[in-house]
Amino acid sequence: MTTATDTAYDRLLAISREAGLLGSIDGLLGWDQETTMPPGGAVHRAKQLALIARLSHERLASAEVGDLLAACEDAMDVSADTVEAANLRAIRHDHDRAVRLPATLVEEIAATASTAQHEWAEARAASDFDRFRPWLEKTVDLCRRKAECYGWASDGEPWDALAEDYEPGCTAAGVAEVFGPLRDRLRTLLDEIADADTRPSGRLDEIELPEAAQMAFSREIAEAIGFDFSRGRLDRSTHPFCGGSHCDDVRMTTRFHPAMVTDALSSTMHESGHGMYEQGLPYEHIGTPCGHSVSLGIHESQSRMWENQVGRSASFWRWAAPKLAAHFGDAVAGIDAELAYQSANRVVPGFIRVEADEATYNMHVMIRFELERALMTGDLPVADLPTAWNEKYREYLGVEVPDDRRGCLQDIHWSMGALGYFPTYTLGNLYCAQFFESACDAIPGLVDGFAEGRFQPLLDWLRENIHRHGRRHSPAQLCERVTGRPLSADPLMRHLEAKFRPLHGI
Ligand code: ZN
Repeated sequence: MTTATDTAYDRLLAISREAGLLGSIDGLLGWDQETTMPPGGAVHRAKQLALIARLSHERLASAEVGDLLAACEDAMDVSADTVEAANLRAIRHDHDRAVRLPATLVEEIAATASTAQHEWAEARAASDFDRFRPWLEKTVDLCRRKAECYGWASDGEPWDALAEDYEPGCTAAGVAEVFGPLRDRLRTLLDEIADADTRPSGRLDEIELPEAAQMAFSREIAEAIGFDFSRGRLDRSTHPFCGGSHCDDVRMTTRFHPAMVTDALSSTMHESGHGMYEQGLPYEHIGTPCGHSVSLGIHESQSRMWENQVGRSASFWRWAAPKLAAHFGDAVAGIDAELAYQSANRVVPGFIRVEADEATYNMHVMIRFELERALMTGDLPVADLPTAWNEKYREYLGVEVPDDRRGCLQDIHWSMGALGYFPTYTLGNLYCAQFFESACDAIPGLVDGFAEGRFQPLLDWLRENIHRHGRRHSPAQLCERVTGRPLSADPLMRHLEAKFRPLHGI
């Protein structure tokens, strides 16, 4: 590199770091809004967040960034496997997308989303799809216009352009190729479970336990699996999430029900997985692509690994069950490791995605993917959504959706204009299972170690293979590098079959 290129690259990184700083302020304001802000702060907070979003977008889309990128690309090999080349590829990707969207469309999307979310909340409360329908029609139309601005490959479709924001490189055809076999094998497993005479016991989750003790239990487990409380916090919120400022200041939340302690625990372990990924990102690259997570799917692979592969394993409960008595005393008398393991693994097909168990969860996501893909192509008119939704629930999960509140109005995503988002949940589960098989191959006795509280080897492996790379590789490249194979449905199905068949006497 010449000195002039050094200067251009340094300036580009300085702009990226500044945008990263703005993003970290946005993260803190968002956390505060969900945890401690009084209701009266909402109007001014919306203005603060809008200003930060605009400043961030202006930096990324600026002509200066375009010029600096061009100068660096002339002088450097951007396909090289180096930090510099990876940063240039990622900034080019983000800059091109930012400049392709006209500011007027960005504003129209933001304004529509704000009203559509409000209308969605009212429509959901009243279970009145007709109230939300015109807003969803407008949202789908805006998403099509947005997709046209971004463009898609000649053999692709508009949905691909939207998904790129959440999972770079992801296409509807690619998703369908993995989801098809997953759906078929899952259907078979769910049929076997429905016909089984044996059911896991839910006894632990029938016991009401005080919230303060559930919080203390959750904190102890989060710390034991590796969440660093000197660089993070755990609070409560209605919907658990993980946010915050940066790798040394990670804010996560969990939720509590009077009964259902396994829900509090799985929410905590899930968010701890997100949090430990953030804490594992390299500080020296903070604010630049190599200090940022890869994608929503890879992020979700980290949360699901601690929630499911660890926290719902029999080995984990051999270690965790004795801690129940220490926190909850006589209330949990008679709950041993086996009963706790069973409570964490009940399978009940239902209507609500966020309450779904590990076996049925992906069906909810696949239904949404098929529907939003059809909404984008126009094959499914918005007016027909409730009927199509209910048919798929009947076909995939064998349940009759009682009303739209518990049907197509249950999720906030589409009202926010976030079409293309849902598949990242299932991609996360697929990446998770595939990564975990590789971790088991690499670390002898990994799962048995959970029974003795040995979680560090898994965290070390994730740090080495995934966290420290930031956005250096695309999701698909990362998967190939870590597991030696492209993403497939097989590891997840092996995991689910190996767990749920014995639990149901199959
Ligand atoms: Zn998550």
